[in-house]
Amino acid sequence: MAKKIKMKNELNCRVSQVVQVSPSMKIFRIVPEGWELPGFEAGQFVALYLPASAERCEDATEEPKQLAPDKMIKKAYSIASSSKNKEFIEFYITLVRSGALTPRLFNLEIGDKVGMGSKFVGMFTLDQVPDDKNVVLIATGTGVAPYMSMLRSDALAKDRKITVIHGAANSWDLGYSSELTLLESITDKLKYVPTITNPDKEPSKWNGKTQFIQDLWEDGIIEKVAGYKPTPENCHIFICRNPNMINTMVESLEKDGFTEHSKRAPGQIHVEKF
Ligand SMILES: Cc1cc2nc3c(=O)[nH]c(=O)nc-3n(C[C@H](O)[C@H](O)[C@H](O)COP(=O)(O)OP(=O)(O)OC[C@H]3O[C@@H](n4cnc5c(N)ncnc54)[C@H](O)[C@@H]3O)c2cc1C
Repeated sequence: MAKKIKMKNELNCRVSQVVQVSPSMKIFRIVPEGWELPGFEAGQFVALYLPASAERCEDATEEPKQLAPDKMIKKAYSIASSSKNKEFIEFYITLVRSGALTPRLFNLEIGDKVGMGSKFVGMFTLDQVPDDKNVVLIATGTGVAPYMSMLRSDALAKDRKITVIHGAANSWDLGYSSELTLLESITDKLKYVPTITNPDKEPSKWNGKTQFIQDLWEDGIIEKVAGYKPTPENCHIFICRNPNMINTMVESLEKDGFTEHSKRAPGQIHVEKF
């Protein structure tokens, strides 16, 4: 029978799948070995770790500082898989070429060992939202990961409208676009708005949106695609990833009366920066 307790800093998982989304983005599936995944809420995150002795991928640049080989490098990653899935945890990760952990993660192959923390945490979850409110999920790049977890769990079971706005430089950076397009085609509850900011680099003509997320918002994108005008009374807004985009969006939303959510002061803006 699987052990429930795992040793601290043990490489307690194996990689079961690696998908190269773009030159600098990968989706990893990680399977626990000898322990059971704890329950978690869609939208939460967990730590991944590897020792400094693990090899860095070929694309990496030189490490700014030399680390002792036995130093464990740990970073937080949002979970992209369903909270109902007890077999594996999925992550969507960007390579930071000069970074400490991601060049080591990007060197992992199927079957390799990796460490995962046992604390699944975070308040960036839909249980913070009353059932009768619509939801707008805004992300740049890998910031779409927590939304995939929400949509793959039970976000679409509630009677509310959900709009995903996903921004990236180019179409190949829009991870999960096939799944989001498919989901949109099978339910009226979901609208998916991908937008790219570097259309000149596209190998074939991009017919979608090309504005920055904040400009789409100012243009009334929710009213256009989802058919309602978002107000603090009818919807909650989740914003994930790029700190500049988050700050501009929060500023714009605050002008419309939205306030940032915290446990002490419930509001309608939910933020996860990374
Ligand atoms: C709650 C939370 C959830 C997160 N979820 C994800 C996730 O789902 N996917 C994901 O890819 N990352 C996620 N991150 C970021 C992740 O924890 C690491 O910070 C990131 O992978 C870089 O780690 P590193 O050790 O390779 O780089 P580090 O050694 O930490 O170096 C990062 C340095 O590079 C700079 N930098 C340049 N580009 C980037 C970039 N794209 N990301 C980070 N730093 C950059 C930073 O300013 C910093 O100085 C999350 C962070 C938090 C706090």
